[in-house]
Amino acid sequence: MSERKFKTEVADLLHLIIHSLYSNKEIFLRELISNASDAIDKLRYLSLVDEKLKGFSFEPRIDITFSSEDKTLTIRDNGIGMDEEDLNGNLGTIASSGTRKFLASLSDEQKHDSNLIGQFGVGFYSAFMVAKKITVISRKAGDGKAWKWTSTGESSYSITEGERDGQGTTIILSLNDEGAEYANRWTLQNLIKKYSDNIAYPIYLEYDQTDYDYEDKDADGNPKKTVSHKVEQVNTASALWKRSKSSIKDEEYKEFYKNSFYDSEDPLFYIHTQAEGATEYTTLFYIPAKAPFDMYYADYRPGVKLYVKRVYITDDDQDLLPSYLRFVRGIIDSEDLPLNVSREMLQENRILMSIRNASVKKLLGEFRKISESNPELYEKFITQYNRPLKEGLYSDYSQREALLELVRYRSSEKDGFVSLNEYKERMKEGQKAIYYISGGKEDVLKASPLVAAYREKGYEVLIMGDDIDDIVISTISEYKDIPLKAINKKGAMDDLRTDEDRKKEEEKKPVADRIKAALGDKVKDVVISTRLTDSPAAVIMGDDDPSMQMQRLVKQMGGEEVSVRPILEINPDSPVIRRIEESGDDGFVAQLSAVILDQALLQEGVMPSDPASFARNLTALLSK
Ligand code: ADP
Repeated sequence: MSERKFKTEVADLLHLIIHSLYSNKEIFLRELISNASDAIDKLRYLSLVDEKLKGFSFEPRIDITFSSEDKTLTIRDNGIGMDEEDLNGNLGTIASSGTRKFLASLSDEQKHDSNLIGQFGVGFYSAFMVAKKITVISRKAGDGKAWKWTSTGESSYSITEGERDGQGTTIILSLNDEGAEYANRWTLQNLIKKYSDNIAYPIYLEYDQTDYDYEDKDADGNPKKTVSHKVEQVNTASALWKRSKSSIKDEEYKEFYKNSFYDSEDPLFYIHTQAEGATEYTTLFYIPAKAPFDMYYADYRPGVKLYVKRVYITDDDQDLLPSYLRFVRGIIDSEDLPLNVSREMLQENRILMSIRNASVKKLLGEFRKISESNPELYEKFITQYNRPLKEGLYSDYSQREALLELVRYRSSEKDGFVSLNEYKERMKEGQKAIYYISGGKEDVLKASPLVAAYREKGYEVLIMGDDIDDIVISTISEYKDIPLKAINKKGAMDDLRTDEDRKKEEEKKPVADRIKAALGDKVKDVVISTRLTDSPAAVIMGDDDPSMQMQRLVKQMGGEEVSVRPILEINPDSPVIRRIEESGDDGFVAQLSAVILDQALLQEGVMPSDPASFARNLTALLSK
């Protein structure tokens, strides 16, 4: 017999499962049944499309047996099965790269949070919580030979030849002391109902039933006992989404979600659509209460499973919904796709495209409805999903209008989330644009002197402090015919200019020119402000120039360094600027101008390009 070592990641996972998940050990059954169901899915699918297995016919089923005397529990399926290589690859390593990444991303503290771990399928290995030894006997469909895998869940496993009638997998758990309670008819029945009711294939439980006949007593006067062997189907095995909407209780929807998508929390809400007409399909979408852990991984696991006439096709197609809706969990079941549609063909499939488009419309429409009818729920939703929706603004031009109604921003005027529509309603009489500031962290932006200046004049400013905002918002020029303007760009300033301002600009031009001469090529221009009140100056960018943050981002991502010079906006009423105006000392003006610029940059969260000279200038000025 050949002993083989588990890969280290499996050893780590086993350790984690045994130590952290212990409070919730019953989930092992759900995991094994779900694997059995997947294995049947695979075989059904291959019997439709695979050359070798085409026409392979079988009656899918999962059988559960137990013995309370021997303390064993057996789960048997007639799915695809595994050969030696599969056993080695699947039960010696962690198959799913998502699981591996998720594990790696957890801090030590998080590893003890069984709720977090419950979010992803811990899979086969969870059975070691209740078993001191596991034996897997499997025969791959189309193969003559069966294989036997055994392990005590420590550091190694072994594989030898085995025996099994027909294709499929039998998993025999030798229960440990804590696991012994699972060799019980009622416990098993409850667990199957609780976690696996919607598994599409029948799950049969075998047990011995003892009946007592009180009419018919034996010689000692005890009722006569008969033991009969029963095989009973425990799960409903109906595809919930195909039942009529009115017959499904809220509780059932939620249970289905939690069991199918491994979440311990109820979803925020769900959307069930049974479409008839040109294309006939059913969709059942759920919005998780918490964003999936891999939402920001490039190779995130898609949340939507595709079925054709209730036959499972795939859960691994990122194109069923656009990527900005990747947090959505659920099911698409089409009546019109051919059953043997190959996974590769899905991409360009016209029917699927039309389901996808309708689903996007439906989802965005429902989000909008909730934002209007249930602000509290919407706030929970947007707290989790504002960012992916903003990606949609950028990536899905066709839904831009709908998405603009959904995204939320911070505001200079109130706490919490503000919509563009809400901003619009509050606009001042005669206000020409929606004003916003982006290109930094929320608190830095909020403290910007420019924001203060707008507030003073009675204009609300949207604070766009998400790192994605800067890129996205620059591609959006208007909302309902109202232009969007960044207050840290030059164009917004022009809006507020009055005749009086123009006079003042004319009058104060010499000081601007003087500072510009002193700063040389550090700035693109120096302009007289018509809006600053308290601060001496602020940096802004030309209308078509990227913000400071964007420049930083490009540099970080290894792009070509673009350093676009900022424009310095100065407040001629500020005492510091007046000193420059009045001074005859060019050296002093140069020092002061440099410090004013660096200070304005600092206020935007940008380090002065030469900190040493900033410090030197400041010291020199302070000692004067
Ligand atoms: P996951 O199911 O998340 O991939 P598991 O650790 O539960 O992870 O299982 C690892 C792999 O072992 C599965 O992906 C599958 O390929 C295989 N496997 C597990 N159980 C069965 C089974 N009953 N029949 C066939 N293959 C199985």
